[in-house]
Amino acid sequence: MKLGVAVAAAALLAACTSTPLPPWTTTGAAPADQPAPTGQRTVPAPLGTERGAPVQTAPVTDSPVRPGQMDDAQTSAADLPYSPAVAARFPAPEVRYDTPGLEPGRRAFTTNAELSDWLHDLSASVRAPTQAQVLNIGSSQRGVPLQAMVITQASGTSADALDASKRPTILLIGQQHGDEPAGSEALLVVARELSQGLLEPLLRRINVVIVARANPDGADAQRRVTDGGVDMNRDHLLLNTPEAQALAKLVNLYRPVAVIDAHEYTVVGRYLQKFNAIQRYDALLQHATTANEPEFVTKAATQWYLEPMNKALAAQRLTSEWYYTTSTDLSDHSLSMGGAQPDTGRNVNGLKNAVSLLIETRGVGIGRTDLQRRVHAQVTAIGSALRSTSERATELAQVRSFVTREIASQACKGSIVIEAAQTPERRDITMLDPDTGADRVQNVSWNSSLHLRTLKTRARPCGYWLSAHSNDAVDRLRMLGVQVMRVAESGNVLADTYSENGRETMNRPDVRGVAADKAPIVRVRVTPTRSSIDIPEGSYYVPLNQSLSNLAIAALEPDTQNSYFANHIIQDLGDVARIMTIPSLVFEDSD
Ligand SMILES: [Zn+2]
Repeated sequence: MKLGVAVAAAALLAACTSTPLPPWTTTGAAPADQPAPTGQRTVPAPLGTERGAPVQTAPVTDSPVRPGQMDDAQTSAADLPYSPAVAARFPAPEVRYDTPGLEPGRRAFTTNAELSDWLHDLSASVRAPTQAQVLNIGSSQRGVPLQAMVITQASGTSADALDASKRPTILLIGQQHGDEPAGSEALLVVARELSQGLLEPLLRRINVVIVARANPDGADAQRRVTDGGVDMNRDHLLLNTPEAQALAKLVNLYRPVAVIDAHEYTVVGRYLQKFNAIQRYDALLQHATTANEPEFVTKAATQWYLEPMNKALAAQRLTSEWYYTTSTDLSDHSLSMGGAQPDTGRNVNGLKNAVSLLIETRGVGIGRTDLQRRVHAQVTAIGSALRSTSERATELAQVRSFVTREIASQACKGSIVIEAAQTPERRDITMLDPDTGADRVQNVSWNSSLHLRTLKTRARPCGYWLSAHSNDAVDRLRMLGVQVMRVAESGNVLADTYSENGRETMNRPDVRGVAADKAPIVRVRVTPTRSSIDIPEGSYYVPLNQSLSNLAIAALEPDTQNSYFANHIIQDLGDVARIMTIPSLVFEDSD
């Protein structure tokens, strides 16, 4: 066993916060409902232009469908989930998309086998300098390969090659929820346009990794959750599912500066029951909103991504709004933005210091209705995110550098937010009358995630100690990219241990109601108690002088609903402690 002395571990990164932030060139008008321009016909430019290098824009194929016509996926009025008057509000786009699942007459979306063939065919067809490769990044619970396509003009498709290119990498994820197909179909279009089409010139400045379908079992069964019944988009900190594990390893390997998560939202269902209304917005958007999210990453998400994304959608006469949902409790008439918990891909990738965006189109519960338009909204929004990454490549690198050093430098200093909550507000939201299809403005109770209320803070430790039998927690932290060190020689440090004041067992709540989980969680109440503790050989140390320290905090403070303790990954409160001074310990030379 090689030993390396890592005394004063906090000095590794703490001293160098001199990287300047880029100038912010636009002011921060928040993305909001941007009514589509009326009375004017826009030429479709869904795939856009790259600043400084014009990209020819044209429809992907000539469309026989004219605005105002119904999508041909809708075969008859009897198939519509709402009145023809509502359907008339959503004319098919002028662009026509032609993935396997979008072929005329199809009843099924692109199958898992067709999706894999599509990606492999594309990667075989690219021409230099573009390179593409389909990576097997894991298997679903039913043994379907989980696949990521790397598309780049770097010297190769490995993470090292992309890193050496000095171009930012953006990760695009589709269909974590199996009953939300438009994102997956749109990513097949985007993969093709990057490989050999209208988006390929963007590869001069960016690298792209696409996971077109993150939950193939759910897609096959046309249901939200994975085969084991777990909602994988509440599993990105816990990593109980192989699907979430595969994404975590991919992010850790390729370190994307931006992550786009494509979903669809409920259009009729509980909104009709609660509001007697149909949902209107073509796209609902939200950046990461969770405790300890770096301020400048949020600023980049808002100004460099969401503002142009809203404009790109409006230019296509597509409406957009902040993302919201409503609980499954029919007596609760409030709308909630995506939550503050560090459990979703949106929030966990935000804590990995990526610009992390949710794009939701109107799709759950309406089958193939308006499918071309839903895919068009996804392609438009994702295309905008690709252009933003290209245009802001230099500034994004500066923000990443600044933020990672800034976070690491905060170890042992100040305080951390343990729990934060949404702020109740009121907001006007436009829905549609179910009979006439007319706009109907609803003034609703609105739980905002844009200004989080701090519920609980604690002094920021220098790191966390984990007992020698915390291997399960250590494995998951390492999958997330968190650095964990193994103690090679026993020692003694000043620490806060947790004294328990009580506990209860409950289902893990989220803004929709409760998360689909394997088991109920343990909510514990604790008091940190300062003392000198023995650190045995073979136990672990998680230093907070690292760029992912906020992720470690989310996992290891035990008294939160997403903690490893609450979710049975750490079994005993005595297995974890807060280390309050820089420890003089000897660590194994690994990790
Ligand atoms: Zn979803």
